[in-house]
Amino acid sequence: MQKERKLIIAGNWKMNKTVAEALDLVQGLKRELGAVKEIDIVVCPPFTALGEVSKQILDSNIRLGAQNMSEQNEGAYTGEVSAGMLKEFSVRFVILGHSERRQYQNESDALVCKKTLAAHAASLKPIVCVGETLQEREGGKMEEVLGQQLRGSLAGLTKEQIADTIIAYEPVWAIGTGRNATPQQAQQAHAFLRKTLAEQFDGAVAKRVRIQYGGSVKPGNAREIMCQPDVDGALVGGASLEVRGFSDIVKNSI
Ligand code: PEP
Repeated sequence: MQKERKLIIAGNWKMNKTVAEALDLVQGLKRELGAVKEIDIVVCPPFTALGEVSKQILDSNIRLGAQNMSEQNEGAYTGEVSAGMLKEFSVRFVILGHSERRQYQNESDALVCKKTLAAHAASLKPIVCVGETLQEREGGKMEEVLGQQLRGSLAGLTKEQIADTIIAYEPVWAIGTGRNATPQQAQQAHAFLRKTLAEQFDGAVAKRVRIQYGGSVKPGNAREIMCQPDVDGALVGGASLEVRGFSDIVKNSI
């Protein structure tokens, strides 16, 4: 499909896959997707599998992402992992501010912003997640919430940094529920996010930013969502855990 920006499709494996299972999955993905040039493909395994998956995809078109990182560089932060540590495994992308972290770890926009700046300082490309709850959407607050999350999570970035940041629009009501946003709902939210980026930074840079859609993306709905002019890829949870599901999403989006 003809797109203004190259599509980027990332699999967020969340807290799934042992090292052996991760290797199985990534070997299958290499087999199925090894020839794909039209789309940037990223897998985000749990921290424990990054090292082995990294070796497995060294000579492939699949790139490595992490699911989170600390805003700190090093020190007494028990249980945390820094950008520098991710770089040791050739990680190129990092998901930040996923709604599950905002909900269960109380991550605020200010913290997500610190992490985003730390990722850029280490030359990692952040995938910054924003999205409204069903209650917020039904209460007519979608734009207010998205605008606030976006501005708060990207405050202080330079234009160069924002051009190298990926935004993931993930309506909370669509994550893991089997209820995806319609292509029209996704387009409307993405267009709003791009307009907000143009106001916060400038129009030219806003046109360069890739905005992924995330929330119950499946092989059957990927193409019509990816066709939308302001949708530049997908962040995939559940369907990224199986070779067939993830590779069909990518193939159906070419
Ligand atoms: C996600 O959590 O990033 C996600 C989009 O999950 P799912 O595809 O399972 O809705």
